[in-house]
Amino acid sequence: MKGAQIIKTNEPLQVNELEQPKPQGNQVLLKVVASGVCHSDLHLWEGGYAGPKGVFMKVEDRGVKFPLTPGHEIAGTVESIGESVKEIQIGDKVLVYPWLGEGSCPACVSGEQNLCDSPRTLGIYQNGGYAQFVLIPDAKFLIKLDNLAFDSASSLACSGLTAYNAVKKAKPFGGLEKEHNIVIVGAGGLGLMGVQIAKAIYQSKITVLDVNDQKLAEARKLGADNVINSKEKPDVVKEIKDLTNGFGTDVVIDFVNNNFTSINSFNMLRKRGKMIMVGLFGGSMELNLPMIPLRGYTLTGAYTGTFGDLVELVGLASQGKVRTVIDKRFSLDQVNEALHDLKNGKIIGRAILNPN
Ligand SMILES: [Zn+2]
Ligand SMILES: [Zn+2]
Repeated sequence: MKGAQIIKTNEPLQVNELEQPKPQGNQVLLKVVASGVCHSDLHLWEGGYAGPKGVFMKVEDRGVKFPLTPGHEIAGTVESIGESVKEIQIGDKVLVYPWLGEGSCPACVSGEQNLCDSPRTLGIYQNGGYAQFVLIPDAKFLIKLDNLAFDSASSLACSGLTAYNAVKKAKPFGGLEKEHNIVIVGAGGLGLMGVQIAKAIYQSKITVLDVNDQKLAEARKLGADNVINSKEKPDVVKEIKDLTNGFGTDVVIDFVNNNFTSINSFNMLRKRGKMIMVGLFGGSMELNLPMIPLRGYTLTGAYTGTFGDLVELVGLASQGKVRTVIDKRFSLDQVNEALHDLKNGKIIGRAILNPN
């Protein structure tokens, strides 16, 4: 089978002939129909994340080993199954839950294996979906797709799931749903998904910030009540206060979360406000510490989500309540082009690899 591998960070991925795995026990071999191209794949390829004060946090220090076949947003058809697999059959159309844990740490035991102490994520810590076939360690990590197309389903497993988890954390305090404000920073794949999910599960007012009018127009189409171009109106804190009778927003979900956005996100919070940090663009933020107790803020993060979250999200997508914005499709041989386009901001919504 053909698979694209990161051999060394920052060097072009190589499309190589790889050995096709044979499933045993509870394992499943999946023929990959769609594999989403994600910002985390860029971070893997670049070898890490920007930390505070120019420190580079290397993925290899966090257990990633190269060569690696990336790709954690995988949808496809079941090609073959191990002898113990019962609930999944050859030919089933499925989406993969890729955020695997080792199964016994506190996070895994409580169902949050996406935050496992020793993660085994497909496409990050073991080979993933930038290939014609991928081995799934257990059939229980597969979710059947009834009426969803593979391309649009694939990114539910990551950007969709992360957005879903973040928006769940934005739940309004009881009673005043219609006066509840959620600001979404960044209208990329995650932000656009976040807008739809928030619209599907809450009555809150949604305001979206971005620097790109085309992306903001898309956010508006998907249900945003207000959009603000923060390049044209850089004092976004004032803009948000103006929209909220001077109070600020109840929740901000920062899908960018870098040096510039984070401090604005913090400063636009209303009393009892919640800042949910999602983006991995990196950097640091200087906090006005007394503000946190005096105004009762909550600062939290959201990274992917649980298997149960993904089942719920697939349900919302199947009902047509959220849809993925697919921008471009690439063959496996065009993998480097796909990553470059993503890196250069040329992708609105999602880029998908179709390896077969
Ligand atoms: Zn991803
Ligand atoms: Zn664990």
